[in-house]
Amino acid sequence: MAIDTIPHGSGDDVKPNIVVVGGSYVGSKVVDDLIPLVHETHNIVLVEKSSHFKVALAIHQKVQKINLSQNIFAFPRLHAVSGFESKAFIPYTSEYFDEAYATLSPHKTHRCTHIITGLVTSILSAEVILEDGRTIPYEYLVIATGTGQRTTLGLHNSNIVNSTLTKDTSNDKEKGLVHIHEWQADMKRANKIVVVGGGAYGVQLVTDIKTYKSTLSKNVTLVHSRAKLLHTFHHGLHDIVMEKMKEIGVDTILGQRAIRIEEVEGMFDDSNEILGVTRKTPEFIVHLSGGEQLRADLVITCLGGTPLSDPLRALAPAAVDLETGYIRVLPTLQIASPNDHNATSNSSYTAYPNVFALGDVAHTGAHKAARPGHFQSGVVTRNIQRLIKAKVAQRLNIKSKFNNHNNAQPHKGAHDVLESYIPPEAPGIHLRLGMRDSLIFRNPALESDVPYVQWDDRDSATFDCGCERYWKKRAETLWKNGDFEA
Ligand SMILES: Cc1cc2nc3c(=O)[nH]c(=O)nc-3n(C[C@H](O)[C@H](O)[C@H](O)COP(=O)(O)OP(=O)(O)OC[C@H]3O[C@@H](n4cnc5c(N)ncnc54)[C@H](O)[C@@H]3O)c2cc1C
Repeated sequence: MAIDTIPHGSGDDVKPNIVVVGGSYVGSKVVDDLIPLVHETHNIVLVEKSSHFKVALAIHQKVQKINLSQNIFAFPRLHAVSGFESKAFIPYTSEYFDEAYATLSPHKTHRCTHIITGLVTSILSAEVILEDGRTIPYEYLVIATGTGQRTTLGLHNSNIVNSTLTKDTSNDKEKGLVHIHEWQADMKRANKIVVVGGGAYGVQLVTDIKTYKSTLSKNVTLVHSRAKLLHTFHHGLHDIVMEKMKEIGVDTILGQRAIRIEEVEGMFDDSNEILGVTRKTPEFIVHLSGGEQLRADLVITCLGGTPLSDPLRALAPAAVDLETGYIRVLPTLQIASPNDHNATSNSSYTAYPNVFALGDVAHTGAHKAARPGHFQSGVVTRNIQRLIKAKVAQRLNIKSKFNNHNNAQPHKGAHDVLESYIPPEAPGIHLRLGMRDSLIFRNPALESDVPYVQWDDRDSATFDCGCERYWKKRAETLWKNGDFEA
């Protein structure tokens, strides 16, 4: 749903642009936060490759019909539970940022936001380039591109991989729904399911399968490479989750890596008594690092994401961490990059003070979650405001000295007054454990201390995992009309 034209800072639209790349949890928050601060002086241009916001983004590969070249996001719950999939995709409409505009006084409600549907392939010093050749100039740039699908666990049978690589790779709502319906059909058919990856996605997926009435009889095994599930958190969370796994009957294999997934044909008979036919359905063998082999008729890998930092390599290759691909940032959340002509390993300097990165794509020191990203947004947007003010002050100063040296870069001295982001000491998570149970868990400051655990009231559990809340926030008119197909 392309809904806007690109402002080029000429003609009627003379304001410079602040471009935000990526409009998920964190990029959208950046725009929300920028609106009250800069609506009079700047255009805010959100560039998002997807036509719809996807609630509770997740990364996964479904091995049975693997999609190596596509990011497909959906709820873990949507693998097993149908009936709310349309609500998981929210269109970027013109009212998407209405809540932020509502905070302005009525006489200031002229719009400064533009939403562009497109993939940014390259970031240059004063413009971004989209895949279709369009360019968008910027004075300030915010990168919130998050993470994409990790391709791994090479299938033994390469024909499967090749046949899917040629598929259409766009990911709008219509195609997303087709994929979700395929997963649900696979889930319905499957009896023996292996889920690889015991992070938040894998844990929520298996607990939903084993507590939803239509799927709870299925045989489910969760494989995790570490000794602890959700290993980035205090062991107390692992203990809670393991207790739940026992209660609902999920087999867990810990400390073993799934190293290869092989497809073998027709080991299971998919008999259809009504039609009187017997079809052979695919079976997979999951090879584990300890030598064990698991047989399954559905394998879902939930391996976390890989940072989508590639577009930045054109401008500042040194800002992209060689090993991890995350964007290195200064405490001010400006990208950490020496001038590439003068490359040094000095990570406390930036040659691009007007370029910021935050959220899951950035190495901020915080754990990867939307909540810390929201705090980072406050730091980034206030710092942009400070740079704008400093630049104005510099211009006035220059004018008064009759020195017409107009530097396009923000005033260097402004760095001294920029705010630093302090990552939270205690990572936390809001985790669902099946159709009814969920809890907030926060790490203690010390491993030996007691973590914060608060179970939610069971009556507050929503079947659609809160999708409707996002519709009300981002597309109120459509929600009121019950138009979830938009
Ligand atoms: C199942 C699950 C449950 C979770 N629950 C919680 C929770 O309860 N609380 C919490 O705080 N966190 C939670 N998280 C984590 C949270 O979803 C992520 O941390 C968050 O989505 C990160 O946001 P982001 O905007 O940085 O990146 P992403 O969500 O990855 O979004 C990046 C956006 O950028 C776009 N994009 C990427 N590259 C380009 C490009 N080149 N051009 C244009 N657009 C581009 C993408 O399409 C995408 O929309 C959960 C995650 C999962 C998987």
